[in-house]
Amino acid sequence: MKAVTWHGKEDVRVENVPDPEIVNPRDAIVKISLTAICGSDLHLYVNRIPTMESGDILGHEFMGEVVALGSEVKNLSIGDRVVVPFTISCGGCYYCKNDLYSLCDNSNPNAAMAEKIYGHSPSGLFGYSHMLGGYAGGQAEYVRVPFADVGPIKVPDGLSDEQVLFLSDIFPTGYMAAENCGIKEGDTVAVWGCGPVGQFAMWSARKLGAGRVIGIDRFPERLRLAKEYTGATTINYEEVDVFETLQEMTSGRGPDACIDAVGSEAHGLTLDAWYDLAKEKMMLSTDRGHVARQVIHSCRKGGTVSIPGVYGAFLDKFPLGVAFAKALQLRMGQTHVHRYLPMLLDYIREGELDPSYLITHRMPIERAPEMYRTFMEKEDDCIKVVLKP
Ligand SMILES: [Zn+2]
Ligand SMILES: [Zn+2]
Repeated sequence: MKAVTWHGKEDVRVENVPDPEIVNPRDAIVKISLTAICGSDLHLYVNRIPTMESGDILGHEFMGEVVALGSEVKNLSIGDRVVVPFTISCGGCYYCKNDLYSLCDNSNPNAAMAEKIYGHSPSGLFGYSHMLGGYAGGQAEYVRVPFADVGPIKVPDGLSDEQVLFLSDIFPTGYMAAENCGIKEGDTVAVWGCGPVGQFAMWSARKLGAGRVIGIDRFPERLRLAKEYTGATTINYEEVDVFETLQEMTSGRGPDACIDAVGSEAHGLTLDAWYDLAKEKMMLSTDRGHVARQVIHSCRKGGTVSIPGVYGAFLDKFPLGVAFAKALQLRMGQTHVHRYLPMLLDYIREGELDPSYLITHRMPIERAPEMYRTFMEKEDDCIKVVLKP
């Protein structure tokens, strides 16, 4: 089959690889109908995530048709159309039973690698390094889905692939980021990064009762979408000072909650952002933390900072003392996708949100290498790329 494979820094190829097969009785094989490139795939693209190996199949946002089932998968049938969560969860461990699916204890066969860095291992992920399971991803014609009796959600007829694909990651990720803010009716929520996760976080913040949502970015098209689809007020950080502007907008108090939907490859115009770039060039740091610092600096006292943006490992100059002095709550982590799927699918079915508005590029999978570059450079107003195998 054809698959998008990783070969090192900025080297992604479309190659012929062996088809996946059922390995365990709880597996399914899904024939991919639509898959997307995620912002977090770009962390792999620039070789920022350790333990990738040449030839690894990329992709953790995908959906398709069930074409083979292991003997123990009773809830799915051949021919079902499903969306698959990017986090792999067994459904039976302490974490899964407590709705903390992205912390599953049983889905990362390489847990020992992750434990060396993190102390404990999070769940396995599709297409996201050997440290997180070494699972083949879904930017391919077929994918093996482990624990298929737990993860995939069936899609009702009448909804297009484009409408439901983002249930695999970015819609639940944006939703959980907003939920983590503990929003009270009328709160002001500021969101750094108006990419797909930021957009869904802004929509969800409104849904959860925020009175005002503020989107921060530098790309005019992203700011425009934030205004149009989520009713956000926007700040272009290349034009104004973010902290000062937020202060003015909130009578000097700061937003009630701040969401970092950017993660470890933050851009910035302040001294600390240049410091991060310099350290990175000297290979002295794994993460550029400008936004993580700015959200903590900007949030009101006693407020909540929510971080859906991905960080690799060790962030330099993390202002823990600032968070302490302001008594902030910090919430973060990979999304417990399974927890949100039925509710978010209902929102889509009821027409409250059609997530496909974010798709700017629709391409055959053969053009993946070019699309990774376009997405990374944010050329051509690129916001979300979907690929058809
Ligand atoms: Zn993703
Ligand atoms: Zn589990």
